[in-house]
Amino acid sequence: MNTKEKAFSWVDSHRDEMVDLWKQMVTIDSGIGVKEGGMEMGNLCAGILERLGFSIRRVSYEKCGDTLIAERGSMDKPFVILMGHMDTVFFKGEPLRRPFTIKDGKAYGPGVLDMKGGVTILLSALQALEEAGYRDFPVKVILDADEEPAHMYSDAPELIRKESRGAACAFNFETGFTDHGLVVQRKGCWRFFVEVFGRGCHVGNDPENGRSAILEMAHKIIEIEKLTDFSKGYNVNAGTIEGGTVANAAPAYCKIECDFRYTHPEDLPVLRKKVEEVCSRTWVPGTKTKVSDNVGFGTMQKLPENMDLLRLAQQAAEENGFPVPGPKLCGGGSDAAYTTVEGVPTLCAAGVEGARNHTVEEWADVESLFRRTKQMAAILLKVEETL
Ligand SMILES: [Zn+2]
Repeated sequence: MNTKEKAFSWVDSHRDEMVDLWKQMVTIDSGIGVKEGGMEMGNLCAGILERLGFSIRRVSYEKCGDTLIAERGSMDKPFVILMGHMDTVFFKGEPLRRPFTIKDGKAYGPGVLDMKGGVTILLSALQALEEAGYRDFPVKVILDADEEPAHMYSDAPELIRKESRGAACAFNFETGFTDHGLVVQRKGCWRFFVEVFGRGCHVGNDPENGRSAILEMAHKIIEIEKLTDFSKGYNVNAGTIEGGTVANAAPAYCKIECDFRYTHPEDLPVLRKKVEEVCSRTWVPGTKTKVSDNVGFGTMQKLPENMDLLRLAQQAAEENGFPVPGPKLCGGGSDAAYTTVEGVPTLCAAGVEGARNHTVEEWADVESLFRRTKQMAAILLKVEETL
């Protein structure tokens, strides 16, 4: 058997162990803001990587689990990045409410698709190659623990950028798609708040004195939503609203949170200016408006080299009889933004395949766990030939 065949045969003979690892991860409660679960995920992954000969660095934060940087081989040479996140979008207690289960070839549970299946593939592909006696290529694994809230609690984006320099290519094991495609481009996301400050009054006794913050905001929402232009690849959503106290008082305060998705990074400053222009206009005299940034995600840039990497993945799929992945543009952000901004060719969505992530209906195709582990092992062998 050659190296690839040995790696594939390791996958075939370790299906139960792979599912066990997947289950173990889904059972760990690493939802948003659950720091101890993020730490537990980190310890589990670090233990496996250490056994595979990686040296581990940890960057710690107050409110989320550590970011792990695991390296094997010389980082002076062009190295391969394998990356992912260990957190989920769910709240504390979700794995108890909805434990890992498999039914009719589909796996369920919090983060089963996004992206604990992907982390399982990442670790299993390395292990399969190791067991096949192959560990020649320098590789860096980056796993963070607060991707879902867009790194509210960490400096992971800067860290990923810094750790990416000198890399030959990167694979992010995000949520895979049932059409088998791999993501070569992702939209960026700018989340911001708009607050309107008006003046309250009793609408029975003193109606002329009111300055309705809600009415002012209503005008602003309509203008902000008009900025959507799908033909230019951007769209905005006023997603939440709060304001007012009782029906018989003019509302003195209103706040919305918006999410702007954009394809081209150069659009962001223009869109930001347009939002500020809308917010500087006043429809209800006497009200004041403030715009402030919340979290955001950069765009995963469509580097021409992403397509070269995709061709390599397509060849690996063709040679082994796997479904051939097409290129995908995805509206959701990911950490692949931070490798591409450093010019590192990147493919994203290399994880297990499924649908409905970020909801309780999230599911993943169990068979894709094994197929995509083999596929990644085959891709890594091909990448190594090009290094
Ligand atoms: Zn994800």
